[in-house]
Order: sequence, then C-alpha cells, then structure tokens
Amino acid sequence: MIGVAVLGSTGSIGVSTLDVLARHPERYRVVALTAHRDVAGMVAQCQRFTPEVAVMADPEAAAELATRLAASHPAIAVRGGPQEVERVAEAAGCDYVMAAIVGAAGLRPALAAVRSGKRLLLANKEALVISGELLLRQAALHNATILPIDSEHNAVFQCLPEHPYTPLARRGVRRILLTASGGPFRTTPLEALRRVTPEQACAHPNWSMGRKISVDSATMMNKGLEVIEACYLFHATPEQVEVVVHPQSIIHSLVEYIDGSTLAQLGNPDMRTPIAHALAWPQRITSGVSGLDLFGVARLDFEPPDLERFPCLALAYAAARAGGTAPALLNAANEVAVAAFLERRIPFLRIAEVIAETLERLPAEPIGEVEQLLAVDRRARKLATQLLAT
Ligand code: NAD
Ligand code: MG
Repeated sequence: MIGVAVLGSTGSIGVSTLDVLARHPERYRVVALTAHRDVAGMVAQCQRFTPEVAVMADPEAAAELATRLAASHPAIAVRGGPQEVERVAEAAGCDYVMAAIVGAAGLRPALAAVRSGKRLLLANKEALVISGELLLRQAALHNATILPIDSEHNAVFQCLPEHPYTPLARRGVRRILLTASGGPFRTTPLEALRRVTPEQACAHPNWSMGRKISVDSATMMNKGLEVIEACYLFHATPEQVEVVVHPQSIIHSLVEYIDGSTLAQLGNPDMRTPIAHALAWPQRITSGVSGLDLFGVARLDFEPPDLERFPCLALAYAAARAGGTAPALLNAANEVAVAAFLERRIPFLRIAEVIAETLERLPAEPIGEVEQLLAVDRRARKLATQLLAT
C-alpha cells in the first residue's frame, strides 16, 4: 500500500487527485489531507477518506474542524498552522506527496517532501519557479523523485526517453514545444481587455481550475511560469522552450528531436490523466478519463503567441533568461497583482504593469537557501503592494 498525502486537497487538483485515488483503494491509502480554510470541504473529505491526519493551515479553521470531527472521527488527528503542513509532507507513513497548494505557500512543504526522499507529484508550479535549482538539488541529494502534474510538463515527460531529467542535448532533443490554449481572451479585442472582469477571466474555455491559475491563463502568465518550470525540470534554456497556442487543448505538449521527429502527448483536457500518470509511473492505471474521440475533435489549430496582447509571457521569458531570483520576484509580484485583480482593486491590464515595475526595481540574486528565497518573496510582495496604490 502506498501512503499518499494530498496538500491542497480541497482545491481543483486536490479533488481530482482524490477522485483518482478513490478508484484504486487496493493500491493507495490517503494518509493526510491539508487545506487552508475550507472546513466544510475538509469535513466531507475526512468522512470519505478517513486520513490519519487533517491539517488546516489556518489555525482558526483547524479548531473548527476539530470540533466538527471530534464525535464522529476521533481517530483523525486534526492540526493547525503552516508548519503542520510541512510535517505531513515529511511524515514516515507517507510515500507520495501531491503538492497542490496554490502559490508560494507551497514552497516549504514541497521542499520538506523532497528532503524526506518522497515522490513529489508537483502541481504547485510556483514552488519550482521560486526555488528552481534549490528544489532540484535537494531532490537529487535525498533521492526524491519529482514528477510533473502540470499537463504540459507531464506531456513532455511522457515524450522524453528514459531519464528525462538529463540535459536535452544528450537526449537528442532540439526543443520543447509547450502548448497553450490562449485562455478566454485569445481573440478579445485589445481595447476590451481594459474592462474585463474576474468572472470573465476565470471562465476558461477548456479547463476548470482554481481562480488564481485561471487568471494566470487569461494573462498567459501561466504559460510564462510553465516556461520557467520546463527550463528547470528538463535542464533546458529559455530558447529551447517554445510556446505554441493551440486553442483545442488536445495536444498537451511536444518534444522535437534533432532527427526531425516530433513526439506529442494527446488526450482530453482533464487533469486526472497527468495525476494518474504520476501516481502510477512507470506503470499505468485508470483515471476515469475517456480516450480521445478524434473524429469528434476533427481539427487541431496552432498559432504563435501574441506578445503584445500577453506581455506577461514576455516578462516571464525575461525572468527565465535573467535567472537566479528573477523568477521568484516575477512570481511574487504576479501573486499580489492577481489577488488585487480578483478583489476588483486593479484592472486586468495593470497586472502586467505591476510585475514589470517590480522586476525593474528589484535586482535578481543567485539562488541560495530557502530563507533567502522567502525574503525575496516578501520584498517583492511589499513593493508590488505599494505599486498597486500608485
Ligand atoms: P485551488 O485554488 O483550486 O486550490 C488550492 C488549494 O490550496 C486549496 O486546497 C487551498 O485550501 C490550498 N491553499 C490555498 N492557500 C493556502 C495556504 N496559504 N496554505 C495552505 N494551503 C493553501 O488551486 P488549483 O487550481 O487546484 O491549483 C493548485 C496548484 O496546481 C497551483 O499551483 C496551480 O498552478 C497548479 N495547477 C493547477 C491546474 C488545474 O487544472 N487546476 C493545472 C496545472 C497546475
Ligand atoms: Mg499547465
């Protein structure tokens, strides 16, 4: 039996993960669940999966959860606080950790998981964008395995030969092609982008996701973060990672080899496929996702990304080229700006401006230890928050 901890279990990826796990009770045991504040969601998940531990990062929510589970489920240990999320990621009974917390809050737990030699199923791309080499180095040092859940990176992983984490040139790879749907505003007139609402930004044409990543998809910062994620995971330079807009979201990414071969991974846009892949790798298990109906799909379209429409993508490439803590600065400013947009404090187009101004003002440094990265994150958040007011 493989023990699995699901961090961010009440979110979009968390719920999809539990759906896959529930299909294979003979293979996986849910040992721990963690969430931020959604007590009702956590109560329902605890009743269904009876984990050993349930953590709410918010201590008040933890107290409420403890009260609600005390009579019916006294065996579930309820804990509160961010440090308790880290503790479940390194606990002995847990073999696999699904990192599905959104944003920088997932960094320490992801590091804790790799430092304890776990299989890390990495959905929380922000953790890798911030910590890059540090997370990978720690994984190598402690014999941890990182498997990408992001559908594009999972697709690339599937299209690479054995030992996918060796430098691309040694694998005979010329470039990685990350596909992007283009989000809800791919064809919206530029002038109309000034007035788009959080509701419009979160209405993704192909994927149902959490609100932060939905806005990232609308600005294409999501693809920018994914370019950085691909550079780290697959030891690629930014020049070796290209973005292809593919509105149908059927091809999840491609790998081009030096002999002219291009391999792609295709499937219905449903995150349970990459989740099942990473859970079972190198085997395969069912995920609940049906096979592709190619006649129903009928056509696949491709176009280059429009960097004028999506300045966030250009900013992310620049941060990838700058290296060091530049991606951490980019990510922090983006998190602050997206939260402000979702709370209707700034218009959509201001998101990219706040990020650009933050990157202009704060210099990047080489990546050191986690405390340094968290200090960089705090500094960028502070500046971005000040810029929001201007
Ligand atoms: P979501 O908002 O639906 O869920 C986030 C989860 O994290 C929730 O369980 C929430 O309780 C928890 N959480 C939030 N803030 C926290 C904090 N401060 N401390 C501890 N827990 C906290 O998000 P999602 O769409 O499931 O995305 C999760 C991650 O996966 C993101 O990094 C996202 O970029 C990535 N991802 C998501 C998808 C998708 O289809 N949803 C696809 C690829 C990658
Ligand atoms: Mg993705």
